[in-house]
Amino acid sequence: MHRPLRLTIDRSAIQANWRWLQERAGVTAGAAVKADGYGLGAREAVETLIEAGCRDFFVSTWAEAEALGNLPESVSVVVLHGVGPDDLEAAVRLAARPCLNSAEQVARWKEIAPERRCDVMIDTGMNRLGLRPTDFGQFDGLTIHTLHSHLACADEDSPMNAMQLERFRAVASAVAARRYSMANSAGICLGRDYSFDLVRPGLSLYGGVQRVEADGHIRQVMRVEAQIVQRRRIPAGETCGYGATFHAEADTEAAIVNIGYADGYLRGFSSRGSAFAGEFALPVLGRVSMDLLAVGVDSAPELREGEWVELDYDLPSASKQSGLSQYELLTTLGSRFERRWV
Ligand SMILES: *Cc1c(COP(=O)(O)O)cnc(C)c1O
Repeated sequence: MHRPLRLTIDRSAIQANWRWLQERAGVTAGAAVKADGYGLGAREAVETLIEAGCRDFFVSTWAEAEALGNLPESVSVVVLHGVGPDDLEAAVRLAARPCLNSAEQVARWKEIAPERRCDVMIDTGMNRLGLRPTDFGQFDGLTIHTLHSHLACADEDSPMNAMQLERFRAVASAVAARRYSMANSAGICLGRDYSFDLVRPGLSLYGGVQRVEADGHIRQVMRVEAQIVQRRRIPAGETCGYGATFHAEADTEAAIVNIGYADGYLRGFSSRGSAFAGEFALPVLGRVSMDLLAVGVDSAPELREGEWVELDYDLPSASKQSGLSQYELLTTLGSRFERRWV
């Protein structure tokens, strides 16, 4: 069935972003592919990144690990939320490793798979997931593959970064593991002190740029396009859309486009977003509806029903327009798109 809206995802851009992140870190780079590859498609993302040389993948849950299907033996999948009371069957059956986050999870893993390797998350100050550095005693009897911590403020120049680094260094020197890992995308930009043996980028693989260090190096990965349902003239003095928030001072040409907040193009873009048709910039007129959007096409007299317009969805600029985080822009994209990996 034809779909009037589509995402085009550029494999070579993901691969180039992964390579830049790995080079910048100076150590092996894995990839966070949780939330279905940040909304783009986890299986395709994994396949694309394996082709580039990536071997370490991170998901949130066992269901996400299972959804990746069979992977080459050289590839490892880590379940970041660890092994909870309802995960026993999956954890025993699947090849993925849990990243253990609490004393309860450590005890559970020792019980069900004492001989298997696991990862462990150390909480160095974020107070989200992980064991505290003082919980050392818990680790006796575990075979730790990778010891992790996670930065709370890597996208800012915050004193938290150096504080967390110092705490993690202290733990790393006291706990035996094959590898140590701390940095997400923004953490990679903080410098190689944060790299340890493995970095875990997510957002920047998919085109996100949070710090100036990555500016100009990270390529846009995804394009959002939607088809025009109708073209109309808004007479001078009339309004357009819910709430009548767009007011036409002169006769205004509008294209009504097949995308709305149900597709993740949220109302933050109302009167602020923009689209393109070829070289023409098309401003969003008034409020975003559930399934529709009006854009001004005075500059594009040829644009007709059935033609495609591209939304400005370059993550840093779309984030400024909408007030949404770059993570939200990716993960809220709905299910109605045709997703094309090229
Ligand atoms: C999501 C996540 C990452 C990736 O973070 P980005 O900011 O998307 O690069 C890395 N590590 C952990 C533990 C995560 O949860």
